[in-house]
Amino acid sequence: MNNLSGDEIIYPYRLNEDYYANVKAFGDEFLEYSQKFNFKSDEESLEALCIGVYWYLYGSTALDLDSNIHQALSNLAEYRRAFPEDKPFIDDLRGKLLTKFLFKPFEKNNEKLNEENLSMLINFLEATGDYMDQIPHFRNFSHNLDDCLELTKWFCKNSRKYLGEYTFGLNEYLENNGTTHLMQEDVIFYHGHELEYHLNMLGAEIMTRIFKEEFEKRPRKAIILPGCMNSNSKKCRARQDRLGDVCTFCNPNCNAYKISKEYSDYEVYIVSHESTAFKGAKKEDMEELGIVGITCVLNLISGGWKSSNMLIPPQCVLLEHVACKSHWLSEDIYGNIDENHLNSIL
Ligand code: SF4
Repeated sequence: MNNLSGDEIIYPYRLNEDYYANVKAFGDEFLEYSQKFNFKSDEESLEALCIGVYWYLYGSTALDLDSNIHQALSNLAEYRRAFPEDKPFIDDLRGKLLTKFLFKPFEKNNEKLNEENLSMLINFLEATGDYMDQIPHFRNFSHNLDDCLELTKWFCKNSRKYLGEYTFGLNEYLENNGTTHLMQEDVIFYHGHELEYHLNMLGAEIMTRIFKEEFEKRPRKAIILPGCMNSNSKKCRARQDRLGDVCTFCNPNCNAYKISKEYSDYEVYIVSHESTAFKGAKKEDMEELGIVGITCVLNLISGGWKSSNMLIPPQCVLLEHVACKSHWLSEDIYGNIDENHLNSIL
């Protein structure tokens, strides 16, 4: 399928066998620290942290964002979701506008976060098109905004201690790939700051705890695989089903084949793009289904909230490294997961 050996590649993140123990320890410390703020739930602690981190990373750009540009980019993102067949030319236009108006070098933001500034931040997130499943949580957030910033300060001080080794290659990866994503619609996503990687790692751990009980009660369980786990998406013969593509076992070397065979007691779907996930979900799925979502790091929080917003309780498993050429690599390689962790969830 490719000529690259996985060990030769510098990845933006890479897990090892200690990852789940480390992120669990960080999750314990985070939830203990967040008790001092009296959030009404662990989910509200996570919402507060997301707001604080996004404000820290993107607040300066958000405050500068012109309302017409926000409106134009939001409309284009909405149009793209509604008419996926027009993706090529919409993405071309979005890439240019995002690069010109939203892509700025990271600048520490020390402005106070108040209700008005939170609205500006939400406008920025909406304009990127990357945070649509998170935004409803921020619009409904009612806790003291100063606590978001205090929690974020703690997070910035501590995340490297637990998770820094997994993003060790991020700067080198971005330097090696230089300006390859400028003028492309994933320019903001692709240039995610190390803190966003750590936020998603911690977020997946917290979500897995929040939704575990509800997930376990569900009579149907589905594993949702990303497109990079099949061996060659162009030759893939999976058949379309209501909730995703289902493997027809055409190639024993394919990782989606292996998971579909090994976990044949569960529903297994391949979903090649986050925007199409659960499009065909019906009321019965919302009542019966729990999912294990497998994805690369920067999609974890959005994917988890996308599922829970549809009343489908999620559990999260991370790809050990990025694997697709649509965003990350010059060639597709196999996506892998820690199967022990998947087994511990199921
Ligand atoms: S084995 Fe399954 S997932 Fe892999 S390429 Fe064939 S049909 Fe697609």
